[in-house]
Amino acid sequence: MRYSGFKVIKEALTGHKGWLPAWRDPEPKAHYDIVIIGGGGHGLATAHYLASVYGQHRVAVIEKGWIGGGNVGRNTTIIRSNYLLDGNEPFYEFSLKLWEGLEQDLNYNAMVSQRGIMNLIHSDAQRDAFVRRGNAMILNGADAELLSEAQIRQEYPFLNFDDARFPIKGGLAQRRGGTVRHDAVAWGYARAADSRGVDIIQNCEVTGFRVENGKCLGVETSRGFIGAGRVGCAVAGNSSRLMAKAGMGLPIESHVLQAFVSEGLKPVLPGVITFGAGHFYVSQSDKGGLVFGGDIDGYNSYAQRGNLPVVEDVCEGGMAIMPMIGRARLLRMWGGIMDMSMDGSPIIDRTHIDGLYFNGGWCYGGFKATPASGHAFAHLLARDEPHETATAYRFDRFRTGHMIDEKGMGNQPNLH
Ligand SMILES: Cc1cc2nc3c(=O)[nH]c(=O)nc-3n(C[C@H](O)[C@H](O)[C@H](O)COP(=O)(O)OP(=O)(O)OC[C@H]3O[C@@H](n4cnc5c(N)ncnc54)[C@H](O)[C@@H]3O)c2cc1C
Repeated sequence: MRYSGFKVIKEALTGHKGWLPAWRDPEPKAHYDIVIIGGGGHGLATAHYLASVYGQHRVAVIEKGWIGGGNVGRNTTIIRSNYLLDGNEPFYEFSLKLWEGLEQDLNYNAMVSQRGIMNLIHSDAQRDAFVRRGNAMILNGADAELLSEAQIRQEYPFLNFDDARFPIKGGLAQRRGGTVRHDAVAWGYARAADSRGVDIIQNCEVTGFRVENGKCLGVETSRGFIGAGRVGCAVAGNSSRLMAKAGMGLPIESHVLQAFVSEGLKPVLPGVITFGAGHFYVSQSDKGGLVFGGDIDGYNSYAQRGNLPVVEDVCEGGMAIMPMIGRARLLRMWGGIMDMSMDGSPIIDRTHIDGLYFNGGWCYGGFKATPASGHAFAHLLARDEPHETATAYRFDRFRTGHMIDEKGMGNQPNLH
């Protein structure tokens, strides 16, 4: 079924009786050409591009819970491509370009909103670093704009300029950045993949891999064995637990990251704003809630809920740049499990087991990567070679020392 304005009007006039389920609920088949583990944004996007770009239709996505229940439906919805290093920037810019055409590609309203992202500058040294980053972005075909304090005052008059502990000296803007309704991304990819024959199997947990003579033959699941020519793992925060079943230890730790939403307010924030002297980022949803977050909780955990000291820390960050946020009541908060890699950059690669592939290490930046990650993982699964934008995302960089240390923090996930 194609969605359109005409269809919405027709259904409104005929009692909404003509809508069909957005995707089927099939029984698992005995064998697929490709099985993807994890029905998050990355797994579903992989399935969509496998079917739509690489002509692979005998594909299943195996999800232990429900579509959109993982990080894809828990993040703060920010998309951007403001990276510094060569290994990252072309990939994230590819992703941003895919976001720009996503709704037409999927025939689904994912509420892609290029309302812009503004990284605030608080010191001369930070301005130097942001100028360098902006130049790297422009060299890679992305947009970047340096703003003076006067320009920030004009665009964001509600920020604390005059008695702030960390005065605002300017900002680095990416006007094409913004927000996307996160769970609509999962639903849109699921519907598009399903319409091309992909089986989306929910409430089915992968409990192990069947490996014989160094080759992966399929997956053991809570609903029986499912054979596969190739298996792709895209389980984000559960990566270490899943890959341990294949005998692999990963350069990844799982940490909790929390998100917060205030009560609905009249439109006040024009776009995404990030605090440069602490860790705080905020945007306003179309329903009016201020959506914000900060640091990871700082200890390893698989719990999807966070701790109170970080709640306080994040709220202090908000108060530091816009004291008026203290008048808003906090409505909701939750946590997600982050797959924090040791250099803060992801992995999209083969494993040492023939036919077993891995996608993970997204830290807290994987939502914006969803389209490019799906595209690149589909390319790897279909052609057995890395996509041109993802050649640096290899496992062996941790052995050879070719880390993609975007933040220059070394192997400390709590600092990425
Ligand atoms: C609070 C928060 C804020 C964030 N903010 C941003 C942001 O603003 N911008 C940004 O770019 N990124 C952000 N992120 C990060 C981003 O959400 C993640 O990096 C990204 O969603 C991870 O990929 P995914 O969507 O595939 O993960 P998920 O949606 O978590 O998908 C993985 C799926 O695998 C399933 N699974 C796990 N184990 C198994 C198994 N054994 N068998 C079958 N299925 C299994 C899980 O149930 C889950 O559904 C944020 C994350 C959080 C938690």
